[in-house]
Amino acid sequence: MAKDAPIYRRVLLKLSGEALMGDGNYGIEPRVIEEIAEEIAQVHRLGVEMALVIGGGNIFRGVSAASQGMDRATADYMGMLATVMNALALQQALERRGVTTRVQSAIDMKEVAEPYIRRRAIRHLEKGRIVIFAAGTGLPFFTTDTAAALRAVEIGASVLLKATKVDGVYDSDPMKDAGARKYDRVTFSEVLQKNLKVMDATAISMARDHNLPVIVFSLRKRGNIHKVVVGQTVGTLVEGGADAE
Ligand code: UDP
Repeated sequence: MAKDAPIYRRVLLKLSGEALMGDGNYGIEPRVIEEIAEEIAQVHRLGVEMALVIGGGNIFRGVSAASQGMDRATADYMGMLATVMNALALQQALERRGVTTRVQSAIDMKEVAEPYIRRRAIRHLEKGRIVIFAAGTGLPFFTTDTAAALRAVEIGASVLLKATKVDGVYDSDPMKDAGARKYDRVTFSEVLQKNLKVMDATAISMARDHNLPVIVFSLRKRGNIHKVVVGQTVGTLVEGGADAE
């Protein structure tokens, strides 16, 4: 097989909102979004069908606002709206590179995005368009990780690629524990039992129940999305099956 041949036909790439902040601590850093879009466009040119879910943590996070006294559901709706802003920014950056895209929102917003319609999303993918799923699941008390697992299963993606700020799954927090060990592979049940920080439990159970492998890797290292898509070992693979010893 050619070195650059994708090993997946259809992928769902989850980008955390925080990835768009770059070194800042809020909002969208234009340079960073351009770089990410360039990388996604290059991977897309390999011929892989790509759907994206983008978080909103760089703008607004429901739990944080709720901890300061805001009604949680309201705060979560605000968080979902933040993901729409990120989706539009990413759409622009991708289209500047000649990629045709569609944003589909789980909250009706017909002036700025298509509504989420599963079969239409699949059709876009078949036509070579990148589909960006915005507004999470459309429901408060959920996360964009859960939205990513849900959409991945709905569209029949072969894998969920979780691009984040850490380079994989560790047995303890690598920021606090110098001896933290990174897993190359870990099972869904281990993640749940040991409460490993991969995605929230709802997202993990969704992936487990539908046998959807998840690859967690760092978006900070340019070229990683490409490596993952062509089958190189990057980050941590989370999948079903027997636990490692
Ligand atoms: N959110 C929600 N339901 C969803 C997805 C997201 O209520 O289905 C809200 C929630 O408040 C969350 C915010 O949107 O904090 C931003 O999403 P998330 O924190 O998952 O973004 P990320 O951590 O990936 O940047």
